Amino acid sequence: MSSSEGRWIPIESPTGIEAFGIKEMTVTEVRCSACGSEEDVSFTGYEYCPRCGAKMEGRTPSMGEKDQELTALEKRLQQIVRDKETEVSNLLDALKNEKEVNKQLSLRLDMCREIYRDVFTVIIKAFYLHRNE
Ligand SMILES: [Zn+2]
Repeated sequence: MSSSEGRWIPIESPTGIEAFGIKEMTVTEVRCSACGSEEDVSFTGYEYCPRCGAKMEGRTPSMGEKDQELTALEKRLQQIVRDKETEVSNLLDALKNEKEVNKQLSLRLDMCREIYRDVFTVIIKAFYLHRNE
């Protein structure tokens, strides 16, 4: 196998649709920059050119890799949310322990805590929704 490097060059072709003198283009094939072979656009998911074995740069990650990336991102997001929730909670506790905090302000701080908890829940839910699209 060759140790050369390459990349997939998109080959644009007209779709047949034209408006204001501009032709709509689409990419259905790609060309290996190392050997010049033309392949279906789905080949951009391959780490190596199947013809010449060149290692491809800037390839499209496979679904498995995308899933791994998303899982890592999800863990990071959950950690950030946990850290921030603790941070906010500690800050609210510190405020409540101030001498001049009366009953009403104390209740408002508890409300803030609930609001923050809701916000973090929404962030996590939004992430899951987006992920499962
Ligand atoms: Zn090649």
